[in-house]
Amino acid sequence: MSRFSGKVAVVTGGGRGIGRAIVDAFVDEGASVMTCGRGPRPDELSSEVHWARADVSRPEDVERLRSAVEDTFGPVQILVNNAGVQVEKSVVESSDEDWDLVVGANCRGVFNCCRAFIPAMQSAGGGAIVNIGSISGVNADPNMALYNASKAFVHGLTRSIAVDHGPLVRCNAVRPGWIMTEMADAAFALADDPQRAKQDALARHPAGRFGSPEDIARLVLWLASDEAAFVTGQEFTADGGLTAASPLQPGLF
Ligand code: NDP
Repeated sequence: MSRFSGKVAVVTGGGRGIGRAIVDAFVDEGASVMTCGRGPRPDELSSEVHWARADVSRPEDVERLRSAVEDTFGPVQILVNNAGVQVEKSVVESSDEDWDLVVGANCRGVFNCCRAFIPAMQSAGGGAIVNIGSISGVNADPNMALYNASKAFVHGLTRSIAVDHGPLVRCNAVRPGWIMTEMADAAFALADDPQRAKQDALARHPAGRFGSPEDIARLVLWLASDEAAFVTGQEFTADGGLTAASPLQPGLF
């Protein structure tokens, strides 16, 4: 029997990138899955996956998402808050619109979804939430001020949910490092010499490679599974060892 057969999972932002890999992994392991994004259903999404057009920053959209998934599959046991955006700016460069975009998706979106889904999870006997944070929520990436701060919020909210809503609801966060998606490409594109920046970043990975969306999906599924029944309120870094190293330059010491 598959690990998630009979389970209902909502994954936000599953149209591409890390979210898509998480959606596909849940489907492969027997879950009924609904995902969402701000636009129309992506053509390549597996036909088994249900799609809702929803902007997670809008409470009314999240309410529609909740009704849609409950009408289709029944109560949700697994919520993965993956949807996120980044704006590559310092504080002084950031506009009010940047604040609304980043804090709307990355902070308010996670809050909206948790608030919408936790009561039903509790009534249905329990559930697991996995929030996608970032190593940027711990170590500041240059010119990513709002993004870095938004991910620190995600880590903090994760702990509060675990404390306030256990034992029925477990809540953990994953902190991905450099995972090769459109978001990572956009970050490298900012460098004066993107190719050099990529080579330099790669050299700092003890794992010898950047991450793939599937690397993150495997960790998310474990955290959502009963194998992680005693794990809650924690953050798990998956960065190929990038943040394990001292910042001192090798060769100089
Ligand atoms: P992508 O940009 O490839 O995908 C982001 C997804 O989120 C898209 O499907 C997008 O869909 C959706 N999305 C964005 N805003 C909203 C919104 N307001 N409402 C609903 N859906 C939304 O990014 P990644 O796959 O790389 O990132 C996924 C998560 O992982 C994010 O939270 C990101 O911060 C985090 N992360 C990524 C890292 C990386 O290296 N790639 C590193 C660390 C963390 P649409 O645009 O159609 O709405």
